[in-house]
Amino acid sequence: MSDASDVPGTVSTPAGSAPATAPRERSGIPKNPGRHELGMRATLLFPDRDIVDRYYVPLIYTACRTCYSELDPDEIMARATDGRVDPAKQRELISRVVESGHGSTIEHVVFTFGISGVSRTLSHQLVRHRAGVAFDQQSQRYVKFRGASTMLPATIAEAGADMRARFLDQVDGALGLYGDLVEAGIPGEDARFVFPNATRTNLVMTTNLRALIHMSGLRLCTMAQWEIRRLFQLIRHEVFGVSPFLGSFLAPKCVPLGYCDESGNRDEHCPIRPHKDTVLGAWAEKARAAKASGRDIPVAEG
Ligand SMILES: Cc1cc2nc3c(=O)[nH]c(=O)nc-3n(C[C@H](O)[C@H](O)[C@H](O)COP(=O)(O)OP(=O)(O)OC[C@H]3O[C@@H](n4cnc5c(N)ncnc54)[C@H](O)[C@@H]3O)c2cc1C
Repeated sequence: MSDASDVPGTVSTPAGSAPATAPRERSGIPKNPGRHELGMRATLLFPDRDIVDRYYVPLIYTACRTCYSELDPDEIMARATDGRVDPAKQRELISRVVESGHGSTIEHVVFTFGISGVSRTLSHQLVRHRAGVAFDQQSQRYVKFRGASTMLPATIAEAGADMRARFLDQVDGALGLYGDLVEAGIPGEDARFVFPNATRTNLVMTTNLRALIHMSGLRLCTMAQWEIRRLFQLIRHEVFGVSPFLGSFLAPKCVPLGYCDESGNRDEHCPIRPHKDTVLGAWAEKARAAKASGRDIPVAEG
């Protein structure tokens, strides 16, 4: 995580205080990784559209409705699946409950993705997520990487020919040495120590919807690293394919929050939502105006 003070053009203000009013120089919005073909794939392995239609929304609805109903959950589920409860009504309740942050209701449904061709740089970030998510990853002990492939970042692909050639030489050299080590009888679990972060890998990831929304909130954010951001764009596309309703919950975290809480975006170079400082500044301004007119709006101390 970068500290705000590392980011050019940012102004650090203590939480809750009014933002600095000096004009702020904006840094650039990171390029959308979707413009580059990265050779990675995310495939929704489970569920299919039929299962989502028949069970997922009714199941979440049943979890939500059970909290407020005298009916048994099995009766609520029966009504939700046999058409006695309008699917639009089910979606409406779910939206309200999710918006209110009652996240356990969406832990009852899971999505399993096959993820292939991502770099070890990405997988290391992905497996940092712990709650509500399970991973299985291609082993570098048991798999013999005869033709290991690697990820080439766009900035290096587009760099000067010399720089690009040096990068490719380095990566090819590491993979060549790996092959020689294995050939010489060194176990794969030791030979892999020469693999670069660019080495591609495959994973299966199963996550409940709450965890998926959380991960997407962080990883669809423009502050996320380009490769993992691209992965979550693909994941969102897959979920939309089986349910535009559930897919619509997958968004950068600032969208449901209504403001950006990333310290690195104090300069608001990413314009999706105003920064928290701007929102707090507007609130402080409103409180000052209210006080001047004899009313008091309580403002939390920073
Ligand atoms: C833009 C960006 C930059 C990053 N930079 C770095 C970096 O430089 N270095 C680095 O090490 N990591 C970095 N990370 C990783 C980050 O710190 C988290 O480890 C990662 O995003 C996993 O998210 P999470 O902690 O929300 O865990 P998840 O497992 O996704 O947890 C979901 C939520 O469950 C709750 N939870 C989970 N486990 C616990 C627990 N043990 N106790 C209490 N509550 C819990 C929390 O509310 C958590 O938010 C970065 C992440 C992003 C998105």
